[in-house]
Amino acid sequence: MASAHRPTLRLVPATGEEPRSTRWFCGHCGALSDVVPAPPARVCGDCGLGLLLEARDDLVPQAGESFLIVDAALAVQALSAAAERLLAVREQDVVGRPVAELLAPADAEAGGPTGFAHAIHLSARGDDEPHRATVRPANVFGVRMSARVGLCGPPRASLVVLE
Ligand SMILES: [Zn+2]
Repeated sequence: MASAHRPTLRLVPATGEEPRSTRWFCGHCGALSDVVPAPPARVCGDCGLGLLLEARDDLVPQAGESFLIVDAALAVQALSAAAERLLAVREQDVVGRPVAELLAPADAEAGGPTGFAHAIHLSARGDDEPHRATVRPANVFGVRMSARVGLCGPPRASLVVLE
């Protein structure tokens, strides 16, 4: 998969660390883009619906993974088609709603009840390091999903990938 066109753009100002490898993906279908999109071309070429977003290699959704884009105020900004099916909601019904209406921290989460929200908050504010959390659908008990949470953009937001 290595490519000479692999983007290495930074999402956050330089901190003295080596730039991390990142990838662009569609916020609707999750398709990966090998080229860095120019601003007018940020709409996904695969589905024609989602905007292309950039995230670190170790965070970016893999084929078939469900994911959400959440802002620093913990409001849902976008939801992948796979996440719509997984959580049995439609994107247009949940955009702008609190993510807590869709996902709750799983009881056994080591970080306590605020761990999931804290990870979203940190990454949406520009923390470049991915976090892990255990969550469940807000209205379903007994189901646990592992999630990775980290920075994506632009605009800067938190990417929550359900595994
Ligand atoms: Zn797409």
